[in-house]
Amino acid sequence: MSHDALPATVDVAVIGGGIWGAATAEALRRHHGASVAVLERRALSAATTSHGAALMPRARSTACLRAMVRETYACIAHFEAALGEGLGLHRNGALHVGVSDGTKAALRAQVEAARTEGDHVDWLDADAARAKVSWLTADPAWSFAFFPQDGFVDPYLLGSAYARAARAAGAGIHQGVTVTGLARAGDRVTGVETDRGAIACGAVVCAAGPWSGLVGLWAGARLPLAPVRSHYWITAPDEARFPRDQAMVFAPDGRFYSRPEVGGLLYGFRDRVCVAADPRVYPPDPRGFAFGHDDAGWDSLAEGLELFRPFWDGLGSEPVAHYISAASAYTPDGQFVIGPWPGIEGFIAVTGCSGAGIATSGGVGRAAAALAVGAEAPWDLSAFRPDRFGAVDPVDPAFLRRCADARANKRSG
Ligand SMILES: Cc1cc2nc3c(=O)[nH]c(=O)nc-3n(C[C@H](O)[C@H](O)[C@H](O)COP(=O)(O)OP(=O)(O)OC[C@H]3O[C@@H](n4cnc5c(N)ncnc54)[C@H](O)[C@@H]3O)c2cc1C
Repeated sequence: MSHDALPATVDVAVIGGGIWGAATAEALRRHHGASVAVLERRALSAATTSHGAALMPRARSTACLRAMVRETYACIAHFEAALGEGLGLHRNGALHVGVSDGTKAALRAQVEAARTEGDHVDWLDADAARAKVSWLTADPAWSFAFFPQDGFVDPYLLGSAYARAARAAGAGIHQGVTVTGLARAGDRVTGVETDRGAIACGAVVCAAGPWSGLVGLWAGARLPLAPVRSHYWITAPDEARFPRDQAMVFAPDGRFYSRPEVGGLLYGFRDRVCVAADPRVYPPDPRGFAFGHDDAGWDSLAEGLELFRPFWDGLGSEPVAHYISAASAYTPDGQFVIGPWPGIEGFIAVTGCSGAGIATSGGVGRAAAALAVGAEAPWDLSAFRPDRFGAVDPVDPAFLRRCADARANKRSG
């Protein structure tokens, strides 16, 4: 843990050293030359980021999200060249399965958009789909779209790479520093207060993940997000059935995704009933946190396996070796929270990842950096306006419920 002295003044102070804070700092240095200090109370990427399944599919519902994911792949290539080492990117390809008419139509639209924007996508028949994923029950009536350039990454390595690149370019990366409040002059945020002293700055970026609602209140911003549980399971190793080069699978009709992991299969479901935590009690170290509903995840697993049965009923008999659960910051509409709060200057929210923050990190960091220095954002961020729900109360149980329901109802990025 570094305990280098904090600067007295910077252009931008970033609260949070998860993947979004680190990506913002890296983009601030690379694209704008701004001085920046990242303030992380624990260790880089130790909170939500290191728990991510880190699938990075390009198939997304909007041009902005697709551009953000492409920017992440560009960042990975940039870091691998600059650092001279790999970041654990596995380009296994993504197989999207459409069963219902609605899912097939959504998939057609995503494939068309991806091709128009230059991505390679193949429509596969059932035999070709099974050649990519041998365990899949591939019905000839289903649709199969394969994105060969897609992959998954080690989220901790990628989060660290943003931070390392930012530091190499001159950013201050400070771990073990808790931000305790904000300094204000009238309607302007002018700095941060920490347990190791104050820093004056031109802008504060709030990248505090599931805790961002509490940070927002310091500024007078009612940020619309809550910690909502995400979870996944990993089977015991069985490389014959789950080879390491097997494609990722996305089956919205089974509310299911999967990818290979350490010789087994990592898989998750979008639960019908999701659960949120009060950000005031969700602890800085989320490991082992009990959400107070189906804490070992067995009910969710049973429900998910039932829905998944048409895709492969063998999954239910695979022994489970690992269960991972942590909160992502979800919003009521499943869209990010990126931008200023009206009437408060010098405060930029970069949060509400809604379970997609690894895949989009490069683009989010680039957009946030532009906003923090008053430059034009590279994409249309209007869907992410922090005030789009009005002045919500981020600790109100009814509001937490809305955020949990958003995860339950989400079908694509
Ligand atoms: C189970 C699970 C599976 C997932 N799978 C995927 C996936 O397949 N693909 C994908 O793209 N995404 C996935 N995600 C989502 C992804 O992990 C998140 O979107 C991403 O990690 C969010 O990063 P962040 O920087 O916003 O938050 P965090 O990583 O939580 O970082 C926020 C940081 O702020 C710090 N902080 C908070 N308050 C303060 C303070 N007062 N002072 C100083 N520091 C503070 C915290 O300590 C923390 O380190 C998954 C998430 C989970 C939980």
